[in-house]
Amino acid sequence: MPFPRQRSRSARRHQRKTPSGKVKIHYLRTKGSKHTCAICSAILQAVAVKSKKLPRLTKTQRRPERKLAGILCGNCVERIIKEKTRLEMGSISREDVPLSHLKYIDKTTSH
Ligand SMILES: [Zn+2]
Repeated sequence: MPFPRQRSRSARRHQRKTPSGKVKIHYLRTKGSKHTCAICSAILQAVAVKSKKLPRLTKTQRRPERKLAGILCGNCVERIIKEKTRLEMGSISREDVPLSHLKYIDKTTSH
């Protein structure tokens, strides 16, 4: 009888032939899910998947170095920076910016 943890069907199984000729089931570890953008929910590139190896990675191996990396995708960061600049220049007001973007615009302000 397998261990209770091996009765779960969420773990992937592989049938492997042992050197003695017996066929045994190998249980594979489940992979972590990929990180997604907080605004458009696109899969983030160059962001490490949560795993046991994560603490051993260097900071730059975990996520890119730009602002809001690991939170938003590149397209959304570009849009946020444009809206922030337009707010600072006064060409648009805070009411023109989507409410979901304001949180990240306030985050990018340095000082
Ligand atoms: Zn996005």
